[in-house]
Amino acid sequence: MHSISWHSVDHSLDECIKCNICTSYCPVSAVTDRFPGPKYVGPQAQRFRSPHQPHSPDDSVDYCSGCRVCNEVCPTGVKIAEINARARAQIVAERGLPLRNRLLGRNELLGKLGSLAPAAANLALHNPLSRLLAEKTLGIARHAPLPTWSTRGTFGDWLRRTAHRRLRSEKKVVYFHGCATMYYEPFIGQAAVAVLEHQGYEVIVPPQNCCGLPLLSNGEFPAAERYHQGNVARLAGFARAGLPIVGTSTSCTLTLKEEAPELLDREDEGTAALRQATWDIFEWLRALHEQGELRTDFQPIPSSGASLVLPYHAPCQLRAHRVGKPALEILALIPGLDLRESHARCCGIAGTYGYKTEKYQIAMDVGQELFDFVQAQGEAVPYSACDSETCRWQLEHGTGLPSRHPIEVLAAAYGLYDLEQRRLVREAQS
Ligand code: SF4
Ligand code: SF4
Ligand code: SF4
Repeated sequence: MHSISWHSVDHSLDECIKCNICTSYCPVSAVTDRFPGPKYVGPQAQRFRSPHQPHSPDDSVDYCSGCRVCNEVCPTGVKIAEINARARAQIVAERGLPLRNRLLGRNELLGKLGSLAPAAANLALHNPLSRLLAEKTLGIARHAPLPTWSTRGTFGDWLRRTAHRRLRSEKKVVYFHGCATMYYEPFIGQAAVAVLEHQGYEVIVPPQNCCGLPLLSNGEFPAAERYHQGNVARLAGFARAGLPIVGTSTSCTLTLKEEAPELLDREDEGTAALRQATWDIFEWLRALHEQGELRTDFQPIPSSGASLVLPYHAPCQLRAHRVGKPALEILALIPGLDLRESHARCCGIAGTYGYKTEKYQIAMDVGQELFDFVQAQGEAVPYSACDSETCRWQLEHGTGLPSRHPIEVLAAAYGLYDLEQRRLVREAQS
């Protein structure tokens, strides 16, 4: 049995002053009685967990979505979300994992398999009969916003096809694309490469693994550890050479920076090098702007009104970076863009949480505050914007409105990208 290490969170238990602030902010306990809240499930229950105890004192920890809102608000820095993640992993180590959670944790494998025949995979996954079957047999909610495989090829296909066009430069940046960009939304990676090259940087895209977050959040720590070690082996050399590693998925970059090292207790030099070199792409672009090196040759983005109204949601995983809201700061430089910031706590989906039948309605109830915000911005709103892929899919599901990554918006403002068609302009013309 894989035993879960508690040493990095144990000392933080004593910091809990029982103020209940975490419970009053927890978006999940606000909408369901099945989850008593962070204080009870986290620091309080932790005192009754012991390696020699046959059963966990509290199974409701499985209803924690891992959004980390509790960590954000705790005045004494108790690592509540990490306590809960470890407690879940302990339960998995003791009792095993349902097939559904095993499948949902394997984003990279599912992405690869579906990409062999994406049209057929989409047909097989996205029809009412198979969704009903998946709900009845596996427990994957039939209305959950599952992704759609790209039928225009993977991001890797595009990189190979356009290799001759890549900018060569003394200035180099490494791009971590993550599974969603590779298999479902290659246009996000295309927009990122276009924006980075527009700044005069050569973009290096080395082979890489899934960051391991879906495995970590489903309590499969040993498998996540293998992915993490793969990423350290493939990427730490770039970090040691002083190259920044930027990612468009805030969940992936948070996992490389913090989640994997913390939950897997990795303190080796390679892990440290990788975490220090990793940036959310807008965090890095903001640093470029602060050095006076970000190009600002923006043009207004085509819209039906005088300005493009864009409701923006900073996902929980971005807020957990503790870097402010860099996408908002950069997008604010674009003329004619009317940014409307959401202050909703969470969209509800929390990676694969909202895909599960017993949690689907909780995820929708959590997200309602955000859906209402987006819909309240008026009928002229063509898109919402969010940095995280699963949150964008949830936003589209909850509002009926398309959602875009801020890097797509920025690429459009440089005239490089068609925001409606989700294509690079030069490719749409060729
Ligand atoms: S907010 Fe922090 S200190 Fe307050 S009850 Fe929650 S864990 Fe304890
Ligand atoms: S991580 Fe989110 S769902 Fe879990 S206890 Fe904290 S606030 Fe609640
Ligand atoms: S967080 Fe990123 S790398 Fe990890 S599974 Fe999701 S998309 Fe893949």
